Amino acid sequence: MKVMKFGGTSVGKPQRMKEVAKLITADAESKIVVLSALSGTTNALIEISNSLAAGDRNAAKQQIDALEQHYQNFVQELLSTDAAIAKAKLVLAEHFEFLTIILKISFSEALNKDILAQGELLSTKLFCLYLEEQNIDHVLLAALDFMTIDSYDEPQIGTIKVKLSQLIQRNKDKAIFVTQGYISRNAKGEVDNLKRGGSDYSASLIAAAVNASVCEIWTDIDGMHNNDPRVVDKTVPIEQLSFEEAAELAYFGAKILHPASIWPAQFYNVPVRLLNTMQPTAKGTLIAEEAGSVGVKAVAAKDGITAIKIKSSRMLLAYGFLRKVFEVFEKYRTSIDMITTSEVAVSVTVDNDIYLAEILKELETFGTVEVDTNQTIVSIVGNEIAETKDVMLKLFESVSSIPVRMVSYGGSNHNISLLIPRSYKEAALQSLNKVLFGL
Ligand code: ASP
Ligand code: MG
Repeated sequence: MKVMKFGGTSVGKPQRMKEVAKLITADAESKIVVLSALSGTTNALIEISNSLAAGDRNAAKQQIDALEQHYQNFVQELLSTDAAIAKAKLVLAEHFEFLTIILKISFSEALNKDILAQGELLSTKLFCLYLEEQNIDHVLLAALDFMTIDSYDEPQIGTIKVKLSQLIQRNKDKAIFVTQGYISRNAKGEVDNLKRGGSDYSASLIAAAVNASVCEIWTDIDGMHNNDPRVVDKTVPIEQLSFEEAAELAYFGAKILHPASIWPAQFYNVPVRLLNTMQPTAKGTLIAEEAGSVGVKAVAAKDGITAIKIKSSRMLLAYGFLRKVFEVFEKYRTSIDMITTSEVAVSVTVDNDIYLAEILKELETFGTVEVDTNQTIVSIVGNEIAETKDVMLKLFESVSSIPVRMVSYGGSNHNISLLIPRSYKEAALQSLNKVLFGL
């Protein structure tokens, strides 16, 4: 059994959705098809929710009507028989009636999650109506019946496995299962979600739970690329990455895959393949246990980083200093990305400054604290990179005119990270593309 996940743009137009139906019937292997909401829908639902939270019911009503119109047009183009269109109208009526009812009740966080869930519920139901119209045998599994997260928002893979196997067992004769990405049920039993872009995470959890042969992530580009195409002129797809390399890249900026989606696949050793619906025969990127090759494979950049330096003469020859520093971050549930130390100072970076003021206040009791905001982590990812001939030389040559604030290597041998001011990001990525990849 395999998992095939299609993102918002792959189901965002009726024609694209029809192509998804072709892709899932191209081979006989049984499969679980995980769908995102149609592109733009989750954003629209967030706007509706924001209007409601702000008490602006008129704005919310207009946004709901516009979204409904979009779906009315969508089903007219997706389906051709009167019977199927009538069924689709009932589906739309059900979900848009729900959205209209919420205009009358008071806003809450639980309601917000219910609103956000409508996108994936709609896309999967409409897709199944299309499959039905095409006589493609399938069954729709409700993600809310098996995808669960605990009170720390962590998916419970054991429970997911048990519940999902039962549902599949009950439909033993079926070869195509369709389900929603992104949405889940939380510890209180309420509707919840796996955060923005979470459909990839759903797919990987499902693939792990059913021990899938492969977890295919279908998007609109041909795999993970060696650099950011928005910043450099030429990029090339990467053929193969190890799970570790992919995790670094996904976390440090490559937008194509949700970073959390690596661990379930890695833990249960399910290969992940990133594929392109526009070019289904292109190889894409394989993410597996083996790295496939040595050397630098990609660079990625992550913006919005804050660097904090704590300088203290008390650190000199002392032990326990780092523990005290880390405890402050732990207390405010803020994770540290990069860290570098010298004998008298330690620098760390964080990508979340919600508790920055509180953290700084506590750190100031240890020594002098300096903060640099608006920084970017440029991450050079590959396999045995530092051992590869000339990489270090080329790397430092590429950034010779850039004020590098931190350098980190050695945490793993597949990542070298540099911290630079955000304003130098473009120059750094372009120069690295030239020097490291000859592009
Ligand atoms: N629809 C959700 C989002 O836009 C989840 C996803 O597409 O992965 O964030
Ligand atoms: Mg996505």
